[in-house]
Amino acid sequence: MQKFVMKSNKYSHLFYLLSALFILNFIPNIAAQDNFKVVLDAGHGGKDPGKHSGKYYEKDIALNIVLLLGEKLDSEEAIQVIYTRKDDVFIELKERGNIANDADANLFVSVHCNAHNTQAYGTETYALGIHANDRNFEVAQQENAVIFLEDDYLEKYAGFDPNSPEAVIGLTLMQEEFLDESLLVASYVQNNFRNNLNRTDRGVKQAGFVVLFQTSMPSILIETGFITNDKEGEFLNSKKGQEKVAHAIFDAILNYKKHLDDNFVVEEIIEPTPIIEDQKQDRVYDGVDFKVQIASGKRKLSLESYNFKGLKDVEREKIGGHYKYYYKKSSNYDEILEYQDQARKKGFSSAFIVAFKNRDRISVSEILKSSQN
Ligand SMILES: [Zn+2]
Repeated sequence: MQKFVMKSNKYSHLFYLLSALFILNFIPNIAAQDNFKVVLDAGHGGKDPGKHSGKYYEKDIALNIVLLLGEKLDSEEAIQVIYTRKDDVFIELKERGNIANDADANLFVSVHCNAHNTQAYGTETYALGIHANDRNFEVAQQENAVIFLEDDYLEKYAGFDPNSPEAVIGLTLMQEEFLDESLLVASYVQNNFRNNLNRTDRGVKQAGFVVLFQTSMPSILIETGFITNDKEGEFLNSKKGQEKVAHAIFDAILNYKKHLDDNFVVEEIIEPTPIIEDQKQDRVYDGVDFKVQIASGKRKLSLESYNFKGLKDVEREKIGGHYKYYYKKSSNYDEILEYQDQARKKGFSSAFIVAFKNRDRISVSEILKSSQN
């Protein structure tokens, strides 16, 4: 730093101005940061009661859980909570997404309750995607039906028909870049429900929820249980049950934030190394491959540069049913930082660095703490 100050010239100010502008535009909204914004969306409200069992109303239970959850999150210094509603009011699905996007939130969590004409029970958490079976479609259909209560819904949702199983295809692309992250948060939620609350885990699922394709950040929709099941309905309607459910979701969000903090290199995002010849460092870690992850999703894309906004040297890795796309590879951390910058400038604003050793994914921050070479 000392060296840089001494060599400072008129261009250095320009550089800092440019890098400040760059930082403002390119902080990825999934990266870890001190101000982690969570949008809490209590399903339904006002003239839309959601599901009801004769005794219990989804809109009331969802709101109670969200308010308890918000209180817990608010006590965390690094987390900011934004609500789509804090009382019994009707809010259009699109508006819920707008609230999250305007806040540039890091995570969107929509809270709901299930219902069925049997004594079905258990919890399930959804990310946006194409439903794997009729039951998943049915759940999305029920949650999407609210748009019929909205004015001009056909115009607002581009002709989207909640009753058509195919309608969601194409729209899922809008959440695709956040799919891995959404599925990860969803798995944390379901793990907590299963392990800490002893609830029946119906799994992490995907279906076409309108509220989820409005948002541009990792987004999940939690079905906290069936209000139509005698026992589960009573649990969900009780203060104690709502407190437990809220706590399980709270803990899952903290786990997710921790995952981000562990995997993202915060300091480099907030204060990138100035790219000036004599400032250049070469932090080389033998046997480690750093890569820039630029995208992920279910689609298998060919690796031509036109699929990646002109970027060459993109590599594809298949993990489960998903593909991850990496740009460049280097054991020099400072070199990979430059490639990350390039990727971000090309429009992959959430591009982040990952590290591998013997083909296994390892923590970037752990590597940086270790000694070089
Ligand atoms: Zn609902």
